[in-house]
Amino acid sequence: MVLARSAPRKEEIFMLRNVLITGAGSGMGMATALLLAQSGYRVFAGVRGSTDALMTETQARGLDITPVTLDVQDTRSIRAAVARIIDEAGSVDVLVNNAGFGLLATIEDGTDEEIFQQFDVNVLGLIRMTREVLPHMREAGGGVIINISSFLGRMGLPLLAHYNASKYAVEGITDSLRLEVGPLGIRVHSVLAGLFGTNFVKKGLVANTATTSETSPYAELVAHFAPIVAKAINEGPTPEPIARAVKNIIENDDSDIAVMVGQEAEQFVPLRRSLEDKAFEARIVETFGLPSARSKVVKPE
Ligand code: NAP
Repeated sequence: MVLARSAPRKEEIFMLRNVLITGAGSGMGMATALLLAQSGYRVFAGVRGSTDALMTETQARGLDITPVTLDVQDTRSIRAAVARIIDEAGSVDVLVNNAGFGLLATIEDGTDEEIFQQFDVNVLGLIRMTREVLPHMREAGGGVIINISSFLGRMGLPLLAHYNASKYAVEGITDSLRLEVGPLGIRVHSVLAGLFGTNFVKKGLVANTATTSETSPYAELVAHFAPIVAKAINEGPTPEPIARAVKNIIENDDSDIAVMVGQEAEQFVPLRRSLEDKAFEARIVETFGLPSARSKVVKPE
């Protein structure tokens, strides 16, 4: 497959063949690995733990995917994975930064360790991966980096502030990096995902124990709101639309910078753009049945 890329010189043609996906052992990463392999790409699936689910699906479809041990919190693991792919395939043409998890915690309760873990995987991991791959993309003369972000990279929700902040950071990195490496022929995009039925809650979610305790001052909010999010994810649609969006981005060099996929993204991101801050917040409070803000201004005598 020969694809035109957004390069400074229009006559250049750049082959996008070798794809590295982080967190490809489940959910969106696995769905993307399967679709891209089926579409003729050479897929290197970064997996931190067990490859069982990925290999079962791969074999059931008669596909060829190469699992690569990859922990985005471990620089040595990242270096070894990228070096192996360069050695075996000669290039990393597409990097899909997908690995991530969610923390359920109030700002009052979230511990330093929890905050660090959240950012270490969702933000620092993405930077480490990108940093390792960029020299190879530059040398090859191009490439595509796709960051799996969230509609929560564009709007806040209670109990998810640390996750929100990590995805806002992903959005900021995407916007800056794109300006840095676009002139080198490297495209950078984000996928603003809505809620999908993956392992995100069942396996990945970390819940702060103080926030979820019955004696928490936020207990009412947690009891009301956490099940709404958990249900929307656990009973959410399967993640194939994310895989299709990633494939579309790879194959269309005029793709949007941030591509919305899924009901929540398509509903809230345009609304966020069209409404004033306060009007948007009022809509969120109403939509999710959240308690409204209480405040009383008392001027000094
Ligand atoms: P998932 O099924 O839990 O997949 C997340 C993957 O990331 C897992 O395979 C996990 O591996 C991997 N991972 C976690 N920490 C890692 C690390 N340190 N190094 C390497 N891999 C690591 O959930 P998902 O929904 O597909 O999540 C994929 C991405 O979509 C995440 O960035 C998430 O924030 C984003 N997203 C999800 C939703 C949703 O509703 N599901 C919505 C918006 C955005 P292990 O199995 O080894 O833990």
